[in-house]
Amino acid sequence: MITNLYIKKIRMALLQTLQIIVLFLTLPNSVIAKPPDKFLALDKLTYESQQATFDKINTLRLTETDEVSLLWLTVLEAKALYYLNKFSESQSLLINVESQAENIDDVNLKEMVLRQMGQNFYRMGGFDQAMNYALKAHLVAEQNNLLWEQAQLTNLIAAVHLRSGDFQLALNHFKQALAYFESIQSKTDIAKLKNNLAAVYIETNEYELATQFLNNALDLAIELDRPTTTISALVNQIELYIKLNDFDNATETFKTCLSHAANENLPSFEVWCLEAGAEMYQTKGAYEQAIEVANKAYDMAGNQKLHQSQINLGKILVELYAQTQQFQLALSISSRNLTQVESIKDEILKLKLEEVRALNDVERTRSQLQFEREQNELYLKNQRLTWIGIAILVPILFVALLLLVMKQRLVKALHVQQLETQDALAKMKKAKEINEKLAKTDALTNLYNRREMSRIIEQVCVKDNGKHDAFLLMIDVDYFKRINDKYGHAVGDKVLIELAQNISGLMPENTPCARWGGEEFLVLLQPSTLNQATTIANKLVGKIATKTLAEQSNMTVTISIGLSKKLPNQNMDEWLLQADQALYQSKKSGRNQVSVSS
Ligand code: GH3
Ligand code: MG
Ligand code: MG
Repeated sequence: MITNLYIKKIRMALLQTLQIIVLFLTLPNSVIAKPPDKFLALDKLTYESQQATFDKINTLRLTETDEVSLLWLTVLEAKALYYLNKFSESQSLLINVESQAENIDDVNLKEMVLRQMGQNFYRMGGFDQAMNYALKAHLVAEQNNLLWEQAQLTNLIAAVHLRSGDFQLALNHFKQALAYFESIQSKTDIAKLKNNLAAVYIETNEYELATQFLNNALDLAIELDRPTTTISALVNQIELYIKLNDFDNATETFKTCLSHAANENLPSFEVWCLEAGAEMYQTKGAYEQAIEVANKAYDMAGNQKLHQSQINLGKILVELYAQTQQFQLALSISSRNLTQVESIKDEILKLKLEEVRALNDVERTRSQLQFEREQNELYLKNQRLTWIGIAILVPILFVALLLLVMKQRLVKALHVQQLETQDALAKMKKAKEINEKLAKTDALTNLYNRREMSRIIEQVCVKDNGKHDAFLLMIDVDYFKRINDKYGHAVGDKVLIELAQNISGLMPENTPCARWGGEEFLVLLQPSTLNQATTIANKLVGKIATKTLAEQSNMTVTISIGLSKKLPNQNMDEWLLQADQALYQSKKSGRNQVSVSS
């Protein structure tokens, strides 16, 4: 009793799975992609001939350079692989496109990639992932108001719900999708959805509704000549008859189903028919026939790489072998099934890992791009700042240079001016010195003039009054008028010059000697004694008298001297007068001699 209940439970589960798979075999017909116009024909080809599709894609890849177009080609390749039941390979391609499509502004591409991935996962038995991608795609479709795509995705979501046993959710979603397709009068989709709804009603044992929807679906599918939908509806009908225990009609429908699949050359659909047939024979209790049909379907599913179907058929076979006491065979199929399940799990896991890796790559590329963009921005900013710096610095440098040049010129000019000033000052100083000297000196004899000599004597009288003995020698040329007269004025001048030299030459160093008048000289001896002064005066008189002057050997020149000692409190005039008087004395006494004032 318990075993029977258990077997019934398993059978129901298997029936359900079969229905869902059949349900989704209609999906390829519904996938109306929206690739760019230039790829529309190729898109159609993916369903009709996969090998021709691959050839065409390989040719196009040689010439196509546009990034988005290349992505579309990969999507179409994935689609062709899907029709070949190569879901895993298809998925690998789509995972890469998905990661690359992130930065591409083509919502049709994005939606189609996600939807196709959802379908791939569904067919692989990865229902969680299928739901995940269906929802993602649905979001894209919703955001971009892609109504047809939304309805298709609602269908996929409903199918996953059905697979999970959430019949109410499945029903709601199928109804929603149907409402949309009815609103746009898409008959093929209406047929498909009605068939799907019938599948739910079979599950929920609402046989009247199931019958009604199935009949509608079948009529439409035949009218539209949609073999996939037709076969799918027939499979559902077999299930319905099984549930109704109407094995005659079930057998009849099974035969119709098989002939349709064979006629249309749809081997994968033949598998579903056989699967339903095996169920039917099993339920009927015709185990031998059930085993035969199930084995045939099992092998075909293997050839078609319909792993999920093969697993289901494996389960049926295990059950059938158990029921017919062929435990060895049951065990063998069971272990094969287990391996199959594991490999599907592995495959899904592998795809999951691939997805993670692809997303990581995208993240890395994005970070790299971000980094490069930031670097570039920094570089540009830096360059901008450099230019601003240059723009600021160049005029400053220019002005600085200009100022420097100006400064150098000024410095140079200043230096020249300084030199000129120094020169001028030196000249002025020299001129002043000359002037001062000229002011003090007699032009002819170069001795002090009368004014300077007066100043010196005055100084002696005022400052040195009485400190040292001082003497004046008043010197006059004797009969000079005659020399002038006899030899001429020029010779007279020359005599005066040579006399001056002799006078100063004979005097102690720094003794002030002056030309006091025309042919009159004055000498101030200080400090000195009367003796010294008298000796010097006499020596001078003697020397001149014996000397040839002005190269006139026949000319005799003598001088007379008046010597006067400075008396205490005597002023200049008084002292000079004394000297003059002494000179007068010498003249009076016969000239050529020295007289000392008493
Ligand atoms: P005494 O012995 O009495 O002094 O006779 P003296 O001829 O020297 O006297 P006097 O005073 O009569 O003449 C002075 C002359 O000196 C007159 C003038 O021509 C001459 N004499 C004055 N100054 C200069 C001068 O600078 N150059 C020349 N060559 N002669 C001068
Ligand atoms: Mg005289
Ligand atoms: Mg004289």
